[in-house]
Amino acid sequence: MQTSIEMRTLAAGTGGYLTIDLGALTDNYRQLFARAGEARIGAVVKADAYGLGAVQVSAPLYTAGCRHFFVALAREAFDLRPHLPADAALYVLNGLPEGCEATCADQGIIPVLNSPRQIARWTETAKTRGQRLPAVVQFDTGMARLGLSPEETRALAASPEIVAPLDVKFIMSHLACADTPDNAANAEQLVHMREISALFPGIPVSFANSGGLFLGSDFLQNLTRPGIALYGGAPNDSGPNPMRPVVGLHVAVIQTRTVPAGTQIGYGGIYTAPHDMRLATISAGYADGLPRSLSPRGAAWCGDIRLPIIGRISMDSLMLDISALPHDLPAGSFVELIGPHQSLDTLAADAGTISYEILTVLGRRFYREYVGLA
Ligand SMILES: *Cc1c(COP(=O)(O)O)cnc(C)c1O
Repeated sequence: MQTSIEMRTLAAGTGGYLTIDLGALTDNYRQLFARAGEARIGAVVKADAYGLGAVQVSAPLYTAGCRHFFVALAREAFDLRPHLPADAALYVLNGLPEGCEATCADQGIIPVLNSPRQIARWTETAKTRGQRLPAVVQFDTGMARLGLSPEETRALAASPEIVAPLDVKFIMSHLACADTPDNAANAEQLVHMREISALFPGIPVSFANSGGLFLGSDFLQNLTRPGIALYGGAPNDSGPNPMRPVVGLHVAVIQTRTVPAGTQIGYGGIYTAPHDMRLATISAGYADGLPRSLSPRGAAWCGDIRLPIIGRISMDSLMLDISALPHDLPAGSFVELIGPHQSLDTLAADAGTISYEILTVLGRRFYREYVGLA
């Protein structure tokens, strides 16, 4: 990944630079595509593509062959639709909000219908317009989050004419524990999904997220929905991460100092220097998406040297112990927060959270550079 002098210059005045490697993104897409066999890959680009930019991420995925895109909100779909070619399908995972029916129908946006009420409103819209509107119907197979309950599922199966005005492209469900491959809940959800599929014969099934793509061929079904694996996060907790890293983060040093043993460092004075120490203050904090919980476990890197985060993380800055460095770290140099020495998943683990949460809150104040495409 390029971290050129030019990029550092462009980042001047910001707290740091975030690189988003679109070549790694499309490599990840191709790796999942190869893994998916007959199943298609739909890209989940909700929450602005996990904070990486839904428009910027969707274009190379489309070029790589992706034709199915998922967002969470209707509002996200309205914003993204004009940037997608007409033959790209765009789905709204969180359902059909009341009042959005006409706009969804006008723009060819496909709602995931999560309740009998949503089904009723979308069929009503279809009848009024004299159009067979596309839809996905979601069933809850063991997460208790979204989708038809078992009773609602049986009721719909008993009266399939209810969805006759619709063009049901897929039935779908979502795995609760796909990131833990050994979890028995995965196989149980698959059994339920198959039972539901048997009730609606001939309708393709969408089931697997990133983790689900690594649970074996039974889980692939017809359309997969990876998010985090495309963005380089580990799809599960077992073994080395097979995905290429997509995100890099380098933050600027703004001041260094040497403090004597006994000095209290940062807000609340929660950290006391145990010996004479050299410190660097860097220009990113919790307002940039570096959680306060990164202290005291997290670190930045300078070359191969780990620089522990010490004291509380401030809104716009944090302090590093740079005593281990054999050289100075002048203001204007950059340290690595996410990169070859420290993965996104490591940073997330140090903060006591998951890669998803780090990505979706990574700051808008960083200079952003999309790299890796010819
Ligand atoms: C977010 C989401 C996904 C993508 O999950 P990843 O674990 O990021 O692959 C897929 N399906 C649904 C319903 C989701 O909400």
